[in-house]
Amino acid sequence: MRIAVSPGSFDPVTLGHLDIIERAAYIYDKVIVGIAKSPVKEPLFSLEERLGMVTDSISGIDNVDVDFFDTLLVEFARKHGATVIVKGLRAISDFEHEFQMAHLNKKLDSRLETVFMMASPEFMFLSSSAVKEIASFGGSVKGLVSDKVAAHLSDKFRKAL
Ligand code: ADP
Repeated sequence: MRIAVSPGSFDPVTLGHLDIIERAAYIYDKVIVGIAKSPVKEPLFSLEERLGMVTDSISGIDNVDVDFFDTLLVEFARKHGATVIVKGLRAISDFEHEFQMAHLNKKLDSRLETVFMMASPEFMFLSSSAVKEIASFGGSVKGLVSDKVAAHLSDKFRKAL
């Protein structure tokens, strides 16, 4: 059984994330979406909210589960018996950071492989931070996130007013 972890902040989960998760679920027997608690990043959504939005988004895919982590990613992968880390690669700007992370994780656990999937063209320029910025100014995030996530975003920014 080939188990992969797909880590990130998912603050909030976008259609770009889901595209990578679905494609990974097609290749691997099981995919665990790993939500990094990331308190230093000061996420807009609480861990519970991010977990809820991801759980909702993956409910139609049998072989995908979600869990959070507040440890090294290699420990999270070990906990789930995963041998692969799946990451999405967008523009060249992602490359340097991801390259560094992949090598460091390999140093920490040589049996854990990082696999990169090219972002689909329609999601190449999509990021959670761009989505938050658009939503904070009342812009439409249709086609970037699910309708439920869009509703959560407008709730969040309405409350902040
Ligand atoms: P973001 O960079 O949007 O804040 P995360 O930190 O949650 O997102 O990213 C988790 C993983 O998802 C990373 O590997 C990132 O490259 C990937 N990812 C994020 N957005 C996209 C996208 N639009 N297309 C493909 N992969 C993506």
